Amino acid sequence: MYDDLRRIIDESDNIVFFGGAGVSTESGIPDFRSENGIYSAVTKYGNSPEEIISYSFFKRNPEVFYDYYKNNLIYTDAKPNEAHLALGRLEERGKLIAVVTQNIDGLHQLGGCKNVIEVHGSVLRNYCMDCRAFYDVAYIMDPENCRGQIPFCAKCGGMIKPDVVLYQEALDQDVLSAAVSAIAKADVLIVGGTSLVVYPAAGFLNYYRGDSLILINKSETDYDSKAKMTIHDSIGMVMGSVVE
Ligand code: ZN
Repeated sequence: MYDDLRRIIDESDNIVFFGGAGVSTESGIPDFRSENGIYSAVTKYGNSPEEIISYSFFKRNPEVFYDYYKNNLIYTDAKPNEAHLALGRLEERGKLIAVVTQNIDGLHQLGGCKNVIEVHGSVLRNYCMDCRAFYDVAYIMDPENCRGQIPFCAKCGGMIKPDVVLYQEALDQDVLSAAVSAIAKADVLIVGGTSLVVYPAAGFLNYYRGDSLILINKSETDYDSKAKMTIHDSIGMVMGSVVE
């Protein structure tokens, strides 16, 4: 199965992978933007995930923000799945140039990829809002470093903010440029685990100039007709089977 995709990958040494939430859900990390995710947030907090993980909400009510954030966005036990591992192998062989991801869990790096462009940031990085001191995820999860759920800086006492792009916040321009540049130069663009509706996903595709757009997603997307190949299946299963 997937012989055509295997051949396209074999023949290219300039592949870029662009992935969305579906890549992480196969590692057991639920998509907080899914119907279920929205329902459980509204039931427990009275607000949608989009409202809670917004910059104004974070400033106004950091206690509730962190309660939601720690319980719904951080999965320290999650392991890379077949998709992450296959991409790690492709990078090691010099075939994969970059991973552009909307996910914030750091699993691509655990799967062996080094050039990972995280357009929405990472839960693994956190910074003091006052002195910019760096803190890892273990620090902010340790109740010793928190008052209630809110983590504070050991150096200056300032509040710590995750290095995650919140709703209402602009994407980092340098990260955005790196993503656009990688996609513009790609010979093969594999897009996986995204329905291409979350900003800035769909916009990224406009920068791709090649003729080998591969879409792998469980459900259909609006871009299926523009792709050279469309596979409606599990991204881990497909990547795991085409990349030995
Ligand atoms: Zn500080």
